[in-house]
Amino acid sequence: MKKSQIEELQAIFGTTNTLFEKEDMIAYSYDASHVEIEPEAVVFPSTTEQISQLMRFAYREHIPVTPRGQGSGLSGGSVPLKKGVVLVMDRMKRIIDFDPANRLITVEAGLTTADIDPIAAQAGLFYPPDPGSVGFSTIGGNVAENAGGLRGLKYGVTKDYVKMMKVVLPQGDIVILGNKCVKHVAGFNMEGIFVGSEGMLGIMTEVTLSLLPIPEHRESALAIFNSLDGAAKAVSAIIAAGVTPSTMEFMDNATINAIQNFKDCGLPRDAEAVLLIETDGEKNSAIAEMAKVEAEVRKNDIREFARAKSSEERDKMFAGRRVALNALASVRPNLILEDATVMRSKLPDMVRGITDIAKKYQLQVGIFGHAGDGNLHPTFLVDMRDKDEMARTEKAVAELFQLAIDLDGTISGEHGIGLEKKPFLEKQLGGAGIRLLQNIKKTFDPENLLNPGKMFDMPEDRTV
Ligand SMILES: Cc1cc2nc3c(=O)[nH]c(=O)nc-3n(C[C@H](O)[C@H](O)[C@H](O)COP(=O)(O)OP(=O)(O)OC[C@H]3O[C@@H](n4cnc5c(N)ncnc54)[C@H](O)[C@@H]3O)c2cc1C
Repeated sequence: MKKSQIEELQAIFGTTNTLFEKEDMIAYSYDASHVEIEPEAVVFPSTTEQISQLMRFAYREHIPVTPRGQGSGLSGGSVPLKKGVVLVMDRMKRIIDFDPANRLITVEAGLTTADIDPIAAQAGLFYPPDPGSVGFSTIGGNVAENAGGLRGLKYGVTKDYVKMMKVVLPQGDIVILGNKCVKHVAGFNMEGIFVGSEGMLGIMTEVTLSLLPIPEHRESALAIFNSLDGAAKAVSAIIAAGVTPSTMEFMDNATINAIQNFKDCGLPRDAEAVLLIETDGEKNSAIAEMAKVEAEVRKNDIREFARAKSSEERDKMFAGRRVALNALASVRPNLILEDATVMRSKLPDMVRGITDIAKKYQLQVGIFGHAGDGNLHPTFLVDMRDKDEMARTEKAVAELFQLAIDLDGTISGEHGIGLEKKPFLEKQLGGAGIRLLQNIKKTFDPENLLNPGKMFDMPEDRTV
């Protein structure tokens, strides 16, 4: 970038909030995926107006801008593929309005997800979407990726809680999309299009989210299985029995052992798989639901059904699941984490398919994930310096996505497309589907300057 352009950024954001030294560029060149590209400048806004000024500058000077929350994305969304400016949102983290009467909270988009609950709890409320990254991801990043979490089965995902937002459009206009009312059909569902937009259509600066009452009681249990198939079948059986647990998390033997090596969370090293299950609600109904869960899992190759007797026991059970990704990351130098998703009824086919693919390509895999949502995270444990292993992994991943599509599932349940899954999106959506996305992108961002090169290529940009 030219000196005059850096000076203009400094004029908008101040010198301390504008970085351009090499070592700073390295720090903002990657997220939690595998791609690394250094930007030319990094800026930290504190107001919506500054972001509007940035986008007017970017359009005038034809400079790409990539929004970034905390860079915990797993698909390369905040990596500045075409260099330019990285716009870091994590200093915009004020609570703008907490409205318990309407069960709403309005926050700046850079707020950390977990920072909502202590405020909501003051009025007996909570914010249900809780990605594994809840302690560091931002609300803007969650909305841009439509993040899921451990409670998705009963409570849904981010899209189910987004009511209204303030957005800076790529050419600098500021718009309010959505409404705080329970119902709102004035115009298209524009706030909806921003959910899962991966920072490509505009920059969210404020988001209004709905909250729910904290359930009176929780029952937690660990179901320990002798076979992967038993655990996968138990998931469908529980739902078919009319129970909707708030959490139903799956971990296979490789994941269990990685966790135990990483941190003792009391998981059984010799189990083929476990399901971490929670029911919640009014006390008697949560207890009755857990009894139904137990009856169903006992029909499916179970070895033990251990109920948490205290909140300490419950926290220990959940601690293992929360560190699953970090634990797997410590097994080999690198990991390739996927989030192919199928309908719950097809979970046994998916688990079998993943195991067969890993065997076929002689790869080490750990499988964990939100089984209640049919959303597994098959995680290939690899050494990226080993070219032969990486070639086999590439083939395995392509087969995995094909399997998900063949089972009427999706190549991404919650991590988005970004750069990592871009080559596979057309298989999922078809040519006409991709053209529709391209046309929408062109309407919002005619010069393709906001997070360019993500999710799909624009017709004029086939080189990316
Ligand atoms: C250990 C770990 C566990 C995880 N567990 C889960 C999980 O359980 N469920 C899940 O869904 N994900 C999970 N993730 C993935 C990740 O945390 C989520 O995708 C999260 O929503 C990203 O938030 P972020 O603030 O880090 O966004 P970033 O990674 O910085 O950005 C993600 C995307 O959002 C865009 N963006 C960010 N802020 C804005 C904004 N204000 N306006 C417009 N666009 C914006 C960026 O351009 C980018 O495309 C996990 C990641 C890790 C490392």
